[in-house]
Amino acid sequence: SAKKKQGHTIQTFTSTLLDAFKDDAELERDLNHAIRTRQFELYYQPLKDLQTQRYIGAEALIRWHHPKRGVLYPGAFIDIAEQTGLINAIGSWVLEAACKQLYLWQHHDINLSMHVNVSARQFFGGNLYEQVWDLLNRYPLKSRSLILEITETELMEDIRYATNLCQELAELGVGLAIDDFGTGYSSMRYLKQFPISKLKIDRSFITDLNISHQSREIVSAIIAMAKALNISLTAEGVENTEQETFLTENLCHQAQGFLYSPALRQAEFSSFIENAKEAVLH
Ligand code: C2E
Ligand code: MG
Ligand code: MG
Ligand code: MG
Repeated sequence: SAKKKQGHTIQTFTSTLLDAFKDDAELERDLNHAIRTRQFELYYQPLKDLQTQRYIGAEALIRWHHPKRGVLYPGAFIDIAEQTGLINAIGSWVLEAACKQLYLWQHHDINLSMHVNVSARQFFGGNLYEQVWDLLNRYPLKSRSLILEITETELMEDIRYATNLCQELAELGVGLAIDDFGTGYSSMRYLKQFPISKLKIDRSFITDLNISHQSREIVSAIIAMAKALNISLTAEGVENTEQETFLTENLCHQAQGFLYSPALRQAEFSSFIENAKEAVLH
């Protein structure tokens, strides 16, 4: 019918606009192809130390150069990758690319840490330890310069397994960060028990800092808690100087967000770090 036809036309039109895939099967097929033909690239977002005003690290964030759809963000494909298990192949590639890049930086005396996101399926999949062990043999990195990020909710899926793996990774010299902190349900008890080196306060609390008294109280409490547990703290999603000032005055360690820079391609990231260094010197 005409109505159906019209509906179809509109749908195709919006699909193109929104970069939506026809269905999950199409996305899965394209992802498979992307893995084989290496269509992924890591972008790097700088992390700033609020007390010294220096850039001290990068978070590696995956981007997909889709041959027809352009650059795709992880929000468009990580869930399906996780559901189909393709995340294992993607995650291995991410880990290796990040270690290789960090190794190159260190070789050029660029002293930064590298944060890498790890999904639940990778973390609980069984061979993350072996993968990291193998990578560190091929790319010897400074102790604690590689930091794996896992979300609070994912970490809590299997606390005993997670505790052991975190312990083993810590013994390899790898740091562990809890991502999107504040959105899940970790109790103080578990935080104390996990060999966690860092918390990343979820962006939602930072976004509301200027307008919500409650968010300011929550962020202050997280800062105090991190201090008590001797865990380093990064605020995610810092977009304006009011937020930065609040965090600096309340002694939050680090910040990351569009106020400083979005995630950049390797070459642009290196220039960004170079320019920032000069700005500090002058
Ligand atoms: P995340 O690990 O919490 O990463 C931070 C996200 O916030 C990134 O989005 C980053 O671009 C964005 N962001 C940073 N600063 C700001 C800001 O000031 N304002 C706003 N509005 N956003 C900001 P991105 O790159 O789209 O990544 C989304 C999520 O996808 C990540 O959240 C992470 O959970 C996942 N992800 C990214 N790369 C990988 C990867 O290599 N492997 C896995 N398993 N997951 C990844
Ligand atoms: Mg992250
Ligand atoms: Mg996060
Ligand atoms: Mg996340």
